[in-house]
Amino acid sequence: MSKLQFHQFSCREDNYGVLVYDRESGKCISIDAPDEGAVLAALAETGWQLSHIFVTHWHFDHVEGIAGLKDKFNCHIVGPKQEVGKISGLDETLGDGDEFKFGNDTVRVIATPGHTLGMINFYFVENDTVFTGDTLFALGCGRLFEGDGAMMWESMRKLAELPRETVVYCGHEYTLANGQFAMSIDPDNEKLQARMKLIADLRKKGKPTLPTTIGEELDTNPFMRPDDSTIRENLGMVGASDEAVFTEIRTRKDNA
Ligand SMILES: [Zn+2]
Repeated sequence: MSKLQFHQFSCREDNYGVLVYDRESGKCISIDAPDEGAVLAALAETGWQLSHIFVTHWHFDHVEGIAGLKDKFNCHIVGPKQEVGKISGLDETLGDGDEFKFGNDTVRVIATPGHTLGMINFYFVENDTVFTGDTLFALGCGRLFEGDGAMMWESMRKLAELPRETVVYCGHEYTLANGQFAMSIDPDNEKLQARMKLIADLRKKGKPTLPTTIGEELDTNPFMRPDDSTIRENLGMVGASDEAVFTEIRTRKDNA
């Protein structure tokens, strides 16, 4: 394997872009293309040359920069098989369980429907890093625009099976608002309380709260903890299924 380098940058209102660079091959991926200008600025800052775009889902704030970047770099554009009609310019389409090589690293595709039906996430196996798009956020999860609670819970469960140390990058800086909601249903969770202090401090300084890790999310993100007995008690759902508790948490967040 080669040790990949990751460069995260803020763009649009609250989006994150990330560049992934493999020094050995000189190849560089933009994870999604939220904003052409911001990706160009990140490339200028790092000195990396764009060779690929990996697209998680079709939403405008994840694909708007594709056409302009393709024009400038003729980069190879990879995206979800199930959203082929919704994303123009895809050179290669992928679905759940597909694996391919980027440099010497293995990339595994994890389908995580719910926010959109075709959403895919990219897991860099040897570097133990996953890009979750708008599926898993720090302390939250994406809204169910196309799928339902059962579908999204299954997607969250797949991500929960990754090693705890797995580094997680996602599409948006929503952590503070997510955390305030998390505190409303899991207020006695000491790890969550401690994390909220860190987050508030980071945001006060204008710093990102991402990346996170699967382990941190398992400990503090209510959307990954529908099996937690205290959360269940707080929701009055002690005997319910994980899926039902997850769906109730999502509904409450939507109405929060
Ligand atoms: Zn989205």
